[in-house]
Amino acid sequence: MLIDTYGRVATDLRVSLTDRCNLRCTYCMPEEGLQWLAKPDLLSDDEIVRLIDIAVTSLGIEEVRFTGGEPLLRPGLVGIVERIAGLASRPRMSLTTNGIGLKRTAAALKAAGLDRVNVSLDTLRPDVFKALTRRDRHKDVIEGLRAAHDAGLTPVKVNTVLMPGLNHDEAPDLLAWAVEHGYELRFIEQMPLDAQHGWKREGMVTAADILASLRTRFELTPEGDRERGSAPAERWIVDGGPHRVGVIASVTRPFCAACDRTRLTADGQIRTCLFATEETDLREALRSGAPDEEIARVWRLAMWGKKAGSGLDDPSFLQPERPMSAIGG
Ligand code: SAM
Ligand code: SF4
Repeated sequence: MLIDTYGRVATDLRVSLTDRCNLRCTYCMPEEGLQWLAKPDLLSDDEIVRLIDIAVTSLGIEEVRFTGGEPLLRPGLVGIVERIAGLASRPRMSLTTNGIGLKRTAAALKAAGLDRVNVSLDTLRPDVFKALTRRDRHKDVIEGLRAAHDAGLTPVKVNTVLMPGLNHDEAPDLLAWAVEHGYELRFIEQMPLDAQHGWKREGMVTAADILASLRTRFELTPEGDRERGSAPAERWIVDGGPHRVGVIASVTRPFCAACDRTRLTADGQIRTCLFATEETDLREALRSGAPDEEIARVWRLAMWGKKAGSGLDDPSFLQPERPMSAIGG
């Protein structure tokens, strides 16, 4: 098991497949992009499959989520999914994507064994999408969502970040649209993980703001804690059900005490938390010929150092050097 000193057990592994992206969301990346990782520094497909195999066979991982950067930009993605689906201890597998290219790949991903997707979409307005992501690709995301739904990568979840002055007023419209299309909407509070360090607590749209806005049009009933488990999203039943809406309040209502995550970056570093300032190098262990048991031991040791919380409320909080796109959200 991957247990930490606070007794939490990590069963959910987030795997970043690339730090590159075809969008430039303002809360994530600067307009000019970033210095991408060099190809030799990236884990190969074989290395990724081996680490996931160790994680599910020896470390109790039950769920794997592929992310990035934009994971659909990874050429070997379908093959990786297929190989993980073939493991004896097959984990549940999902993908977090901006949806561009999903129209083309959804059916192949489903056939390879992917269970479901989270697609990020912050607005229903193409002009606002262009301002938020600095790319004119709204239509591609909408088509990608539809393709994921039709391919059976369900439930399709939609991740939305609300930004002041851009899409802060769209929560009720987005929920009405998600209910109509059968997508499960989850709002994520903006976190200080952008490469430009532009996050300001004062300006951010909080979970309380989002709920107040939704309640102008919908009746929301809280789902019980039992249903929530270790999920980061608090969920509400919409207008008596069956639809739900989630809010991930990482800043104003952190859920660190129930965290069950461990993260692997595209260059083979273990991170115990999005906000961790330390990493553990598994790539070095892999490439120096360490056997599976040794890699599992290093991973266990890394988790033992997991901090109690994100430290966001601590006056000495320091934003991690790695931005969200290179960690894997
Ligand atoms: N490119 C893919 C995508 O956008 O879904 C996967 C990677 S992205 C880093 C994963 C999720 O993190 C997305 O839903 C995105 O909206 C969210 N995200 C990125 N930067 C964020 C920030 N500063 N605060 C909160 N969420 C953020
Ligand atoms: Fe790319 Fe996802 Fe970051 Fe947007 S949030 S820039 S889509 S990695």
